Amino acid sequence: MTENTEKPDPKESKQEQSYEKMAAKARELFAASSEKTLASLEKAIEGAREHLVKLGEVTQQESSHLKFYLRRDLEQSAKHFQSMSEQARKKFNAENLQAGFMDLTAQLAHGASEMFLRLADWAESGSSYHTGQVTAPGILKCRNCGKTMNFKKTGNIPPCPGCRSTHFVKLNSAA
Ligand SMILES: [Zn+2]
Repeated sequence: MTENTEKPDPKESKQEQSYEKMAAKARELFAASSEKTLASLEKAIEGAREHLVKLGEVTQQESSHLKFYLRRDLEQSAKHFQSMSEQARKKFNAENLQAGFMDLTAQLAHGASEMFLRLADWAESGSSYHTGQVTAPGILKCRNCGKTMNFKKTGNIPPCPGCRSTHFVKLNSAA
């Protein structure tokens, strides 16, 4: 069973907006970097984090959380991309370019696909998702009861609607 999660809590939606801003800034910095390597992506994400702190958008602590979420989500998207056929890769994210995160992953998939595939092995942030964190669009499955939640856009993770557990894994949706 899949439930949509739409929560208008102002604090949560601010965190989501900051996440998308960080993704958009990382995309801009990565696009401007001469090398398309994992190191330059890492630098772009760090630059985006510093940018949000400098703007007063988020605190240092919030920015480290957002950076962690962004890296984790990019790594998961890269794993998904890795599992796709050549044809599916060409269409990857093509119809969903409005949001910062999707825009960033599309840029990586199409403009730096070799690097993006290597990102799939960038496993240090793991694939663990917890209540209270922000996640990019996708399906999260409860580790306890197996119930799934479908995030159509970047959102804040609530407790499991089935069992109130707070631990989830991300499922790769069909390509
Ligand atoms: Zn559950």
